[in-house]
Amino acid sequence: MAYDQNNIFAKILRDEAPCFKVYEDDKTFAFMDVMPQADGHTLVIPKFPAENIFDLDPEYAAAVSLTVHKLAPAVKRAFKAPGLMIAQLNGAEAGQTVFHLHSHIIPRFNGLEMKLHARQMADFDLLKQHAEWIMAELKQA
Ligand code: AMP
Repeated sequence: MAYDQNNIFAKILRDEAPCFKVYEDDKTFAFMDVMPQADGHTLVIPKFPAENIFDLDPEYAAAVSLTVHKLAPAVKRAFKAPGLMIAQLNGAEAGQTVFHLHSHIIPRFNGLEMKLHARQMADFDLLKQHAEWIMAELKQA
């Protein structure tokens, strides 16, 4: 399947769709998941038109990993999360629903089940606040 330039994350990168941004550098962009599986659910994407890991330029693969590594402690601190799940799905069969590569960063707590994947839209004021908490922690780093 060819990369679809009109997928929602491509639109976010072109500033044609809104998002709650937490971080950006020359190769990556990070924002809040609008249907979070837990509070603080953050997505990191490359500024590169790759559907999945198989067509991602290695330099951008490295850049996404570095951004996940930078954001993970900030998300963990912002949500006082004892655990953090990092996931990246490749192909519909693996559960991928948006076909621009992305890594999920999801706070995890003992006894708190994750919500269903990509199901329930979060309150936008809350997402804005969560993005601000993460950005405040990034400044401390
Ligand atoms: P995946 O199923 O791994 O492809 O994950 C796609 C993720 O993107 C899901 O967790 C969705 O909740 C999330 N998502 C879909 N549309 C948007 C959007 N416009 N802004 C932020 N996150 C989104």
